[in-house]
Amino acid sequence: MNLELSEEQTAVRQLAKDFTDREITPHVVEWDRAESVDRSIVRKLGALGFLGLTIPEEYGGSGGDHLAYCLVTEELGRGDSSVRGIVSVSLGLVAKTVAHWGTEEQKRRWLPGLTSGELVGCFGLTEPGTGSDAGNLTTRAVRAGDDYIINGSKMFITNGTWADVVLLFARSTDAPGHRGVSAFLVPTDTPGLTRREIHGKLGLRGQATAELFLEDVRVPASAMIASEGKGFSVAMSALAKGRMSVAAGCVGIAQAALDSAVKYATEREQFGRTIAHHQLVQELITDIAVDVDAARLLTWRVADLIDRGQPFVTEASKAKLFASEAAVRAANNALQVFGGYGYIDEYPAGKLLRDARVMTLYEGTSQIQKLVIGRALTGVSAF
Ligand SMILES: Cc1cc2nc3c(=O)[nH]c(=O)nc-3n(C[C@H](O)[C@H](O)[C@H](O)COP(=O)(O)OP(=O)(O)OC[C@H]3O[C@@H](n4cnc5c(N)ncnc54)[C@H](O)[C@@H]3O)c2cc1C
Repeated sequence: MNLELSEEQTAVRQLAKDFTDREITPHVVEWDRAESVDRSIVRKLGALGFLGLTIPEEYGGSGGDHLAYCLVTEELGRGDSSVRGIVSVSLGLVAKTVAHWGTEEQKRRWLPGLTSGELVGCFGLTEPGTGSDAGNLTTRAVRAGDDYIINGSKMFITNGTWADVVLLFARSTDAPGHRGVSAFLVPTDTPGLTRREIHGKLGLRGQATAELFLEDVRVPASAMIASEGKGFSVAMSALAKGRMSVAAGCVGIAQAALDSAVKYATEREQFGRTIAHHQLVQELITDIAVDVDAARLLTWRVADLIDRGQPFVTEASKAKLFASEAAVRAANNALQVFGGYGYIDEYPAGKLLRDARVMTLYEGTSQIQKLVIGRALTGVSAF
């Protein structure tokens, strides 16, 4: 892998950096306190092509490779993980899945809106009773003539109350476990689909996370994406690339922790000199810097593998595992550098730590990533 970025990658990274510094960073505290980012950000992301990266231009996408996608995700994550998450889900989990698995009709119906930001997508896999054990989900889709009727509920759905379409996973046959699961593209204004926003989250407070309830939701059979019983493969392929996106977002958090810790350490004085002169403070900053580099290299490796059409699933789990744990460590170390000021939300470290904390939980907990990696190493599945 050549670690020197191409002209195009350098340009898109700079575009994302400028956008983050101009449109996101100044509002971060306000959005966090209000428990909502400004919704106009979605259209702005779309206008710059950030919601269409890796999607073919014929469907409204902006093309680009997976490294470019990582660079943009990293910059957005440096600014606000709530904004980064909107992109990781609407583009990363939904639009990319439609582009990969969808019929021509599904691509034409959904991709132009999702890539422009006119539409928002959400990913409905987790249920109240099945999180890590998603293959045993219980939402049911029953065939009725040319339609399916869906009943059940979904939990912790990012973009849930904002979304126009949900990529929904439901059990449509009696085959046991994940073999009975199918995937559907369900417009969120379909009668019988209701949503409730979840408030009081520790972090990602600017992001709309919701419960979805489905009561006799009728969709045409043409809403199924991929074939019957293929839903779990669809979900896992989306999440494998999704883990790269989460890892890139974590690099952004760790980078923000580093930038803010260095700035503060070179300004704050104690014992007659800046705290940067104290070697134990330098140690905290050094530990953050090493985490940033290691997480970034693991993440870029995944992008490189995907772009070269090589197997990447285990490497994506390694990157997500390391980068998410590194983001928590980095934000915690930054908070230590800030001392008591790190504990109030006028300074960035506290929010970085609160946002980082969910990264070891969603899109597969750290324990689940270890099982995926362990299975690849030993050939023995613990699932
Ligand atoms: C803010 C937020 C946003 C989210 N967004 C989405 C979304 O957009 N779409 C979606 O579908 N889901 C989403 N999720 C759900 C998320 O993916 C799940 O929370 C996650 O998969 C874990 O499931 P759980 O919370 O039910 O925990 P559980 O699965 O109940 O796990 C609890 C604990 O047990 C451990 N554990 C479970 N099984 C094993 C095992 N076999 N071996 C070892 N340890 C194990 C876990 O690692 C964890 O520590 C989101 C969650 C949050 C908090």
